[in-house]
Amino acid sequence: MTIDDIPTRLGQVQDRLRAACERAGRAPDSVALIAVSKKQPAEAIRAAYRAGQRVFGESYLQEALDKITELSDLDIEWHFIGRIQSNKTRQIASHFDWVHGLSDPDHARRLNDQRPPEAPPLDVCLQINLSGEDSKSGIAAEQASELLAVCDSLPRLRVRGLMTLPAPSDDEDAQRIPFRALRALRDALTTADRRLECLSMGMSDDLEAAVLEGATHVRIGTAVFGPRPYN
Ligand SMILES: *Cc1c(COP(=O)(O)O)cnc(C)c1O
Repeated sequence: MTIDDIPTRLGQVQDRLRAACERAGRAPDSVALIAVSKKQPAEAIRAAYRAGQRVFGESYLQEALDKITELSDLDIEWHFIGRIQSNKTRQIASHFDWVHGLSDPDHARRLNDQRPPEAPPLDVCLQINLSGEDSKSGIAAEQASELLAVCDSLPRLRVRGLMTLPAPSDDEDAQRIPFRALRALRDALTTADRRLECLSMGMSDDLEAAVLEGATHVRIGTAVFGPRPYN
């Protein structure tokens, strides 16, 4: 696996997405690919960019800021997909276009207050912890409407939808269960006044299951860039 392989791998992921959309009876352009470049060098991002990729996801703030600076000549849409810490919200609000994984009303208020006035509202997804297992991040489904109400009062945030990060599973039917639950929650929270069009779900090993259940954004790292160097 070298940087030279990235265009081929990116093409393979696009093929998988196209095939999954076809299986699902969905339009091929109805799923956005977020290339998750955490732990990958700036050169890897440049290689994917040259192959046409424009949307990248990062998890570790300092590492991300270094790459954002280094790649400021490129027209990249940056998504923060990592765990949010209170003392990092200002830099997240300043340097990212999207935040997946919002799950705390205090973080929501801080991101709102710290979003630079010249920037458009920050696009956010609320992280829902459906499986209850591994990661402690995300709120329970029952808490979602409360956090939504907080966000509705914050004009510098725009809630676009929901995100989830389920425990891994090899079996596509099993993979689909939490994704289906996220879509059902999204539908239940949708009102005439509030469209929640985004479902941020699906990674390298479960993107097909996610697309079958309605993902609008898949977050793909390994399948695009290869294994992360420092896991
Ligand atoms: C690392 C990460 C991904 C990508 O995972 P891969 O299995 O490498 O595709 C997606 N979402 C989040 C939140 C991540 O932290």
